Amino acid sequence: MNKEPRKVAVLGSTGSIGVSTLKVLRDYPDDFQAVALAAYGNIEALKEQTEEFSPSGIYLADEEKYYFFRNEYQHERCQLFSGSEGMEEMLASCRPDIVVVATVGFTGVKPVLWSIKNRIPVALANKEVLVVAGDLVRRLQEQYQTPLYPVDSEHSAIFQCLQGEREHLRKILLTASGGPFHKKPRENMENAGVQEVLNHPTWDMGKKITVDSATMINKGFEVIEAHYLFDLPPSRIQVVVHPQSVVHSMVELVDNTVLAHLSPTDMYYPVLYALAYPRRLEVPHKEPLDFFQLPQLTFSKPDPKSFPCLQFAYDCLEKKRGYPVAFNAANEVAVASFLEEKITFLQIAELIEQILEAFSPVDVSEFDIICKIDEEVRKKTSSLIKAL
Ligand code: MG
Repeated sequence: MNKEPRKVAVLGSTGSIGVSTLKVLRDYPDDFQAVALAAYGNIEALKEQTEEFSPSGIYLADEEKYYFFRNEYQHERCQLFSGSEGMEEMLASCRPDIVVVATVGFTGVKPVLWSIKNRIPVALANKEVLVVAGDLVRRLQEQYQTPLYPVDSEHSAIFQCLQGEREHLRKILLTASGGPFHKKPRENMENAGVQEVLNHPTWDMGKKITVDSATMINKGFEVIEAHYLFDLPPSRIQVVVHPQSVVHSMVELVDNTVLAHLSPTDMYYPVLYALAYPRRLEVPHKEPLDFFQLPQLTFSKPDPKSFPCLQFAYDCLEKKRGYPVAFNAANEVAVASFLEEKITFLQIAELIEQILEAFSPVDVSEFDIICKIDEEVRKKTSSLIKAL
């Protein structure tokens, strides 16, 4: 079959998922082609990627770096973009067949909304998009009939288990590694420095998500993400701690059957599945799971005392009305401050709790309102940090 390769835009191309996505594109040149790349400000990596993949558009969020890049690095076939509408302008100009959204935090919301409205399928790795704008995304998705494919490993696992089984789904069993503080004494968390927190036992990921894994807010976000992707109430999404990260999640069906998804711990696989869906492509060059080499697989309940952020996520999902937006904004500011060593690890959860306690619920059916809450909560969290 002689088919044109699928044109792919990679937003967040220099981040961890972006790099995994480009590995997939490199391995399957007949199936996929990079037409647009977006990065925050890592110009060295972006330059290399541009030389290798010859996209027709690139975007840099950091304007200073954008001007530097533009002056230093002219490329006649490649158009450069920046600014608050730049990512959408690039997508409009490059017209990809699928957009991989692997940006971090709130940044991903706008390009996702744009892609859905323009009926371009989205492979979503940026879970915060569904946390802050889940209802809006779902509404637009239904209106425009645009598919959204999960890239988050757990949600990809659930999505794969549900092929042909959607109507039988009773419950999602969302696995969590538990992060570096699973079953460790509390002093470890009290005294945790940035380096210890960034030392994740099973996954090699970006900094923000690694901190989010240590607080388990990442799993909380994933509960919210699962709610929107698979349309289940929070009471039917259960977190199961599985420190080996071999089972990537499970689904319980109406006849008590549980289907689990297992694969090597590598984001290459969920990216490949999202890009190739509904096909499943052969991976000849990577080692499959070797069951005789696996550690013992264990499963346990999360500890709510050590990880209050997980419960905050359930509470925010029950309440909705802007709570998840505030939850995310407070976390983004707190995590950035922790990485700059301005606050301690435990203060991340304390700040989020303070923000949520003082939050007044509002209707969030429009994107402008979501932006306003996001901005206000960021300011408030910053001032709480200054006052510490
Ligand atoms: Mg995940």
